[in-house]
Amino acid sequence: MKDYRIETKCVQGGYTPGNGEPRQVPIIQSTTFKYATSEDMGKLFDLEASGYFYSRLQNPTCDTVAAKICELEGGSAAMLLSSGQAANFFAVFNIATAGDHVVASSCIYGGTYNLFAVTMKKMGIDFTFVDPDASTEEIEAAFRPNTKALFGETIANPALTVLDIERFADIAHRHGVPLIVDNTFATPVNCRPFEFGADIVTHSTTKYMDGHGSAVGGCIVDSGKFDWMAHKEKFPGLCTPDDSYHGITYAEKFGQGGAYITKATAQLMRDFGCTQSPQSAYLLNLGLESLHVRMERHCLNAKKVAEFLESSDKISWVNYPGLESSKYYPLTEKYMPSGTCGVVSFGIKGGRAAAERFMKELKIAAIETHVADARSCCLHPANATHRQMSESELIAAGVPSDLVRFSCGIENYNDLIADIAQALEKV
Ligand SMILES: *Cc1c(COP(=O)(O)O)cnc(C)c1O
Repeated sequence: MKDYRIETKCVQGGYTPGNGEPRQVPIIQSTTFKYATSEDMGKLFDLEASGYFYSRLQNPTCDTVAAKICELEGGSAAMLLSSGQAANFFAVFNIATAGDHVVASSCIYGGTYNLFAVTMKKMGIDFTFVDPDASTEEIEAAFRPNTKALFGETIANPALTVLDIERFADIAHRHGVPLIVDNTFATPVNCRPFEFGADIVTHSTTKYMDGHGSAVGGCIVDSGKFDWMAHKEKFPGLCTPDDSYHGITYAEKFGQGGAYITKATAQLMRDFGCTQSPQSAYLLNLGLESLHVRMERHCLNAKKVAEFLESSDKISWVNYPGLESSKYYPLTEKYMPSGTCGVVSFGIKGGRAAAERFMKELKIAAIETHVADARSCCLHPANATHRQMSESELIAAGVPSDLVRFSCGIENYNDLIADIAQALEKV
């Protein structure tokens, strides 16, 4: 599959059935797997042989779909998880532990911010959040001797800022740590962060990858390019023996391309069990088969909707990185030349009340706390996800009270624009 283009990988990647085998990825709905001898089983537990023994750790359906995402991103190994939250938690916790520190972009998904700033902080991991547009010197100043990773989102949800991946990768590598990029909004169809130096990619597969609002899930992909052994003292979990597996050293036994995902599976999945169900993996794969076709339409619709909004006198501002007027347009030309995402945010003249009225009048886009779905949906964060915040707190969070987040589906854009126009008329 390696030599094929992204569209072919979306449809055919990860699974090549043999003679007489099912054409579609089989759902292996089994918690456990049978072996002839205890010795066979013992080898699996010692990580001496590869194979399945319990679906909390690994399942063939999940691995098949992970292999497809691995091919799409151009990585060396990948794993599926129960959610995007689990993916970002594992991605960081696999290399940072109590007493460690991580530098993260301040423009990230609210759930990830909470995970880092509140929950993982309670576990003893310290985070410093930096403005992704800050100068290289300012970002470098956030690093400490115990910093273990740099984290950002290709296109941030919901701020829609675009990460300068190459610059971030250079900064991370100068400090001997990997760059972890949450590539949920761009998807590998529009951006492959490994090509610009990122080391680990994460996804909420719940969004465009599934694309039909049917299954919550996550994924981690390793580029296999980060040389853990060259920074042995920083990553003892990968570079020194693991007592819970008879003294295996992951970076030695599984090499640069396999160590990170093997450790996350053998330790974190074993202990936390944030596993994706085979049924969900099957649904995710159905979504992936059309990802390239859907992304093109999501991006076309969003561009048309953003252009219409920009021309409307009822709108005070429009934020869409694919618009030529966006300050991120030069970065999108470099990192996402074929499109960005389907999410547009904008402010309606008349503030909070106008935004509420507008959304009530929409007929096609439904009000949902979801994005990246085949069906258009929208959210007024000041009234939903950011409801507890005061006006000044909302502005500080980059979510003013007039902000509407509009996720363009794959309907006809003329219908979306007509619907938006009639709703704006009533404001
Ligand atoms: C939704 C989202 C997440 C969290 O994913 P879940 O599947 O909802 O747990 C993480 N990162 C980004 C960018 C997201 O949009």
